[in-house]
Amino acid sequence: MLNFYPGPSKVYPEVRQYLTDAYDEGFLGTPHRGDQFVQLSRTVVSLLKQKINIPQDYHIYFASSATECWEILIQSLTVNKSSHIFNGSFGENWYNYAKKLRPKAESFRFDLNEQMPVEDLNISSDTELICFTQSETSNGTHVTATPILNLQNRYRDKLIAVDATSSMAGLNLKLIKADIWFASVQKCFGLPAGLAVMACSPRVIFRAKQKAERAHYNSLLAMYEKMLNYQTTHTPNVLNIYLLKRLLEERPVVKLLDEHLTARANDLYTFFSQFTEISPLVENEEVRSKTVITLQANERLVDDIKKKAMQQDIRLGNGYGPWQRNTFRIANFPAIQDEEYEELKRFFLQNYSWI
Ligand SMILES: *Cc1c(COP(=O)(O)O)cnc(C)c1O
Repeated sequence: MLNFYPGPSKVYPEVRQYLTDAYDEGFLGTPHRGDQFVQLSRTVVSLLKQKINIPQDYHIYFASSATECWEILIQSLTVNKSSHIFNGSFGENWYNYAKKLRPKAESFRFDLNEQMPVEDLNISSDTELICFTQSETSNGTHVTATPILNLQNRYRDKLIAVDATSSMAGLNLKLIKADIWFASVQKCFGLPAGLAVMACSPRVIFRAKQKAERAHYNSLLAMYEKMLNYQTTHTPNVLNIYLLKRLLEERPVVKLLDEHLTARANDLYTFFSQFTEISPLVENEEVRSKTVITLQANERLVDDIKKKAMQQDIRLGNGYGPWQRNTFRIANFPAIQDEEYEELKRFFLQNYSWI
């Protein structure tokens, strides 16, 4: 089966062996306050910094999902409100959660074909956290480095949090340009779901201490205190943390992965331009995601493509949210091999050369 679903997505084939090794090395029943776990956790933190370019002074935390990170950040870093800038479903869902916790949370929508409009934002002065999604998995848009830098320059006293679930560990993001970055591991990391990684600047910890919010098992302050000893507040997903260690040891640095994914994304967009009835959902090339390729066609054709692909053991991503019926998505994640994309292209050439 070829799996181009953008999450959960293809896991690295090496994971099969790592799972057995985890069992054999006794990680599955190891106490999470013991030495074996602490060593593992310490190694993973150092590998993450080294392999995905996380600044040395950033703190790293383990959570169970990106969704949990949304919640932790709102609970622990805001009293008044957060401000959410989005053009798709994941950014909007984060905002919807925030509103339930802090009813004054505010939102700024922008167009699919537009850069994040930093100059036009009118963020309230009592906002404590600015939130956006770097790669919007639902529609295949992304926010490039320039608007992120402008956002930081314009709102220097605000914390900025970035959901980078479908790009972190695949693209060479400039993490220094925001305070918080997080991702769950079932996208670009190429691992099974059930673990998220969150990186926080020293400023975040300073603010968390000021707020002193301790009402939740994963209050950021409690996570910080435990992580000083490379531990978690609760029994974590030790197996997935182990898989992450093994994977990161073998993985090229993110700069090389970024070059590879960028070239492959360009190649895919070019390839699909030959079909007159299929086009990228996002017309503005600058804001097209490199890791989630979203293609649109009429509903009947989308349906036909997905069904025919399934019959040939190719899993494409469904459309998401408002784009559910007229788009399909193709993950461009590091665990998927170049040959698999060649096979995908052959499928389109063989079945859809007439369109
Ligand atoms: C997949 C995804 C999520 C949700 O991840 P979970 O691990 O299911 O919580 C959140 N944000 C983005 C951008 C995603 O792609």
